Amino acid sequence: MTLDVQRIREDFPILERQVYGKPLVYLDNAATSQKPRQVIDALVDYYENYNANIHRAVHCLGEEATAAYEEARAKVAKFINAPSPESIIFTRNTTEAINLVAYTWGRANVREGDEILLTQMEHHSNLIPWQRLAAEKGASVRYIELTDSQTLALDGLENLFDARTRIAAMPHVSNSLGTINPVEKIAAEARRNGTLFLVDGAQGAPHLPVDVQAIGCDFYAFSAHKMLGPTGVGVLYGRPELLEEMEPFLGGGEMIRKVTYEGATWNDLPWKFEAGTPNIADVIAFGAAIDYLDHLGMENVREHEVEITDYALTRLSQLEGIVMYGPPDPRERGGVVSFNFGDLHPHDIGTVLDHHGVAIRAGHHCTQPLMRTLGVSGTARASFYVYNTPEEVDVLVEALEATRDFFKR
Ligand code: PMP
Repeated sequence: MTLDVQRIREDFPILERQVYGKPLVYLDNAATSQKPRQVIDALVDYYENYNANIHRAVHCLGEEATAAYEEARAKVAKFINAPSPESIIFTRNTTEAINLVAYTWGRANVREGDEILLTQMEHHSNLIPWQRLAAEKGASVRYIELTDSQTLALDGLENLFDARTRIAAMPHVSNSLGTINPVEKIAAEARRNGTLFLVDGAQGAPHLPVDVQAIGCDFYAFSAHKMLGPTGVGVLYGRPELLEEMEPFLGGGEMIRKVTYEGATWNDLPWKFEAGTPNIADVIAFGAAIDYLDHLGMENVREHEVEITDYALTRLSQLEGIVMYGPPDPRERGGVVSFNFGDLHPHDIGTVLDHHGVAIRAGHHCTQPLMRTLGVSGTARASFYVYNTPEEVDVLVEALEATRDFFKR
């Protein structure tokens, strides 16, 4: 295996626990990842040693907290090769990052008769904000369809955009199918057409080496909690020229430069978009998560997931009655395997697996329209990360066999 997984597992205290008397096999990483000791320690260190508000204190603790918070921003910028830390906005999560763009850029630029281009595999996070914007403005939403192996149908890519297509937005990696979308190619076409391009990177940044400048996207959104970091922190990368032009999202403290009874002027980037006291502790601990991933190397993280996904696809395909979704080649997908098994309901599968200590996700995965396209009410989904082993895939397969036998009786 590419990663020294046994060594990595020692950093994750939760992996020592048992569930219903069985060792925990955590395969719900697309929902949220577990946290290493280094991230938990960074949180404790902040609260125990330098808890203070940032950017306004003249005292030592405030200066230390400000430095650590801004250092985390610089780490994030480097992690995705953003051109500057100022192009990194901290939000609550991916959802808020996408809403920020739809609300500010969208409201100012999308007009009646315009079009927003999405795909049939959107997470509701990258669907609802655009549907709301379209409804408000009298614009329309069009969806790129799927091929039989649930990749994007991109034949005729050059005809994908028309003169009214103001923005295209899509996942880097589908959370329900695992499909990796060719965002670089689509970004180039969008640019040629004068269409902005937003990537929902919630399943991209945690699992693939990401270079926003090489992709050529205008916005890239992701969440700390899916990449070893704490909950409550999201990232919006925006091309600096665009962020400069955009109006603030929320108003309040910190995002202003000068305020009078009559009005106000806005702070510089990135603080123009960070109204109020931010999530200081969790941002700092996110910095520790980035350090951890940098230390492993994102190329290695990716290679590990290809190996384990390959093994999972092979093992699962040996089960009679299994239907798997997404492209069959592990190099064309992230570490997500969605499936249905015979006539078992995904929730029943999830519940029985839980009693074997195996945590998976069952349901529509916040992609209800996609489930309708697939003709299913939901799927069971196993998703992997840096601490998962082939032996855990074996436990999953054995637990699935036990589930089938349980319902046969
Ligand atoms: N997009 C995708 C592809 C996702 O997988 C998720 C999380 N399931 C989100 C967006 C939303 O992320 P968050 O809940 O952290 O805002």
